[in-house]
Amino acid sequence: SPIPDYLDEVVQSTADDRSGRLADYIPPLAAVEPNVGALALSTVDGTVYAVGDADLEFTIQSISKPFVYAVALAQHGIDKVLERVGVEPSGEAFHELSLESGTGRPLNPMINAGALTTHQMVGEPGITEDKRNAQVLDALSRFAGRELEVDEEIYEAEVSSAHRNHAIAYMLRSHENITGDPRAVVRGYVRQCAVRVTVCDLALMAATLAHGGVQPVTGERVIPHAVARQVLSVMTTCGMYDAAGDWLSTIGIPAKSGVSGGIIGSLPGQVGVATVSPRLDDHGTSVRGVKMFRKLSHDMGMHLMEVP
Ligand code: GLN
Repeated sequence: SPIPDYLDEVVQSTADDRSGRLADYIPPLAAVEPNVGALALSTVDGTVYAVGDADLEFTIQSISKPFVYAVALAQHGIDKVLERVGVEPSGEAFHELSLESGTGRPLNPMINAGALTTHQMVGEPGITEDKRNAQVLDALSRFAGRELEVDEEIYEAEVSSAHRNHAIAYMLRSHENITGDPRAVVRGYVRQCAVRVTVCDLALMAATLAHGGVQPVTGERVIPHAVARQVLSVMTTCGMYDAAGDWLSTIGIPAKSGVSGGIIGSLPGQVGVATVSPRLDDHGTSVRGVKMFRKLSHDMGMHLMEVP
């Protein structure tokens, strides 16, 4: 059929690109096969197309951030979350040690400072670390429409070298943006990043946002409509960190990238798209993923600012 053929062409058109570098801050990420590539697309009515190395499992990493932000918003309301985490693009790298001047909040939930804060907001006050981690995994699984699992090898490697995330968490603790033991928050955030997914899972997660919070296949309302709008807005301005302006102007789709090579895009009311390819550019975003999105957006007229 023409759609998978076209999607396959998108993947193949980038297959010769060997530029960029694997994430090498932990051994298991540096050891992945570098030449893989996959693309999945889910419509908001739950038709899923997947091509390339579509069965490949990889860790979700920072693509978890918009979904955990969504959970915090759904549980506490948008205003309460705004008191703790802003919505302004930082123009900085994902692991910058920075807080908004004046308010002392992390600038947005897509950089690590904001993601550590929204992670800790999940669950009722006084929830145990294990229960909070279980709620996060359960929520990510509802977005995907199947039970996801944590990659324990990646988790162990990340947590034993998460010095910068500890620095950020202690900074947040000193400003009382988070409470309790900062190390527990880092452990939970790193577990959230170590959840294993395929491009199909990610396309369905992205499509759930594009569908206003209803998972296209299970039909479950995972988050309220207003929360989906909030998350898509913040993905648009902050999802690609210090490359958000370039991404929005050239590709024009709310998106989020992760350091293991995944990218999601959610086109409101239409589709969720996900790509994976592990070689990264200087912003920590997949080189081939950006190219695949660029081609798709161009060919299918997906740019949000396209004037009809
Ligand atoms: N686990 C990584 C970190 O927090 C995720 C970063 C990312 O995907 N950009 O450092």
